Amino acid sequence: MIEYVPHSGEPEAMNYPVVICDTCRKQIVGEGLAVWRIKLRVKDEPRQHTPLYTTHKRECEQALHSQLNGQYSLDENWIDFSEEIDVFLKQLSKNLNRSLVDDPAGL
Ligand SMILES: [Zn+2]
Repeated sequence: MIEYVPHSGEPEAMNYPVVICDTCRKQIVGEGLAVWRIKLRVKDEPRQHTPLYTTHKRECEQALHSQLNGQYSLDENWIDFSEEIDVFLKQLSKNLNRSLVDDPAGL
């Protein structure tokens, strides 16, 4: 998740936004993933998705998947999705100024 964290260093002491790993609660610096699951729809079921999680790769990622398997089991038609954290943040930033509903090329 994204959180504001206090920091006393340069350029000045203040709170800075950072990405925190939802598994180990440490800051993600460099490599990381945005992870979510979507349930495969049957007939007219409404779209269901998990909250969006952020995680370090490898051990933290595996622990997150184990946690998700409890509530959002792959055996119950939930499908894994992930994106590199830097790509996710670039896409998110771009979409602050672009409505997918109003941009047919974006759908
Ligand atoms: Zn971690």
